[in-house]
Amino acid sequence: MKKLAFFDAKPYDKIWFDQLKESYNFKIKYFENKLNEDTAAMAAGSDGVVAFVNDTVDAPVIETLYKQGIRILALRSAGYNNVDFKAAYNKIHVVRVPAYSPYAVAEHAMALLLTLNRKIHRAYNRTRDYNFSLNGLTGFDLHGKTIGVVGTGKIGQVFIDICRGFGLQVLAYDPFPVEGKQIEYVSLSELCSKADIISLHCPLTKDTHHMINSQTLSQMRDGVVIVNTSRGALIDSEALLEAIKSKKVGAAGLDVYEEESELFFEDFSNTIIQDDILARLVSMPNVIVTSHQAFLTNEALHNIAETTLKNLKSYFDGEELKNEICYQCDKAPTCEKKHANRC
Ligand code: NAD
Repeated sequence: MKKLAFFDAKPYDKIWFDQLKESYNFKIKYFENKLNEDTAAMAAGSDGVVAFVNDTVDAPVIETLYKQGIRILALRSAGYNNVDFKAAYNKIHVVRVPAYSPYAVAEHAMALLLTLNRKIHRAYNRTRDYNFSLNGLTGFDLHGKTIGVVGTGKIGQVFIDICRGFGLQVLAYDPFPVEGKQIEYVSLSELCSKADIISLHCPLTKDTHHMINSQTLSQMRDGVVIVNTSRGALIDSEALLEAIKSKKVGAAGLDVYEEESELFFEDFSNTIIQDDILARLVSMPNVIVTSHQAFLTNEALHNIAETTLKNLKSYFDGEELKNEICYQCDKAPTCEKKHANRC
């Protein structure tokens, strides 16, 4: 039976991994700690490591794991911007879960948009206090508005289908357009200038880091609604905060935040948060922050557990690693399109 060191373990992970681990012949040691330079040594004696989005898989961590004889690290996520895959090359295979439920994330993006627009979060608080006033709760019809979708991969495409159900006009930007889906592609600047709502569904790479910044924000329509369920660092949070304060941005739904790794998934309700940008964003009536929960459905958690364990079994059985990340170039999304799993 192979032993796995499982980092950033939460009760909702354990339910699904515990259900499946024996059928895949694994013994799992769960650690609540995030994987980083200080905790990597905890994996000693394990045959493989399981990590999540806010674990740090950088060169020192890879070196520590490698010295312990670990040759396989399985991400329970689709995104892998937290992995130094060049450092991992020729040392540790890194596998991921490329798709577990695009519906979970796309539906959460729409939930953020609907909540923000119809002020459900504020209405909920009011009526609990027997305040039945409607002042300040006016929204707008989504029907007939233009939504800009950045990234038309698995999640972006499901999100576009959902948007069409609401009668939204969809514009999209993606350097690798999907054929045969009748999606109207435009440049990023045209999308910014024409969209009433912008939703981000692309990976975090060197090219997409801070793609929403003071310059792109200035191109947007006044009162634009921004939804980000992808990765926090797609948005320059300081620039977003300024744009919200100046009313350029009408509302923002953020499931991810660029400095989330030390905060999200944990309870800080008894603590003074030191991150002034996040604290200010959270205080705004027209901002909703959820803590990277877009993936959190039963279906997604089941699929994450199953694919993660399958990925690990494939490695230990010496089979082809279908979900291995390409290490050899720093343009992994491009590479996936052109080279499948490896350059
Ligand atoms: P995907 O690989 O299927 O699609 C990503 C799309 O983005 C691709 O079509 C790609 O061509 C496009 N893209 C690449 N570079 C781009 C750029 N510069 N500008 C615009 N588009 C670009 O991935 P997916 O499964 O749809 O997931 C999208 C992202 O959602 C992931 O990278 C991850 O960061 C995020 N995600 C978040 C959660 C969550 O819980 N919040 C869960 C899963 C995934």
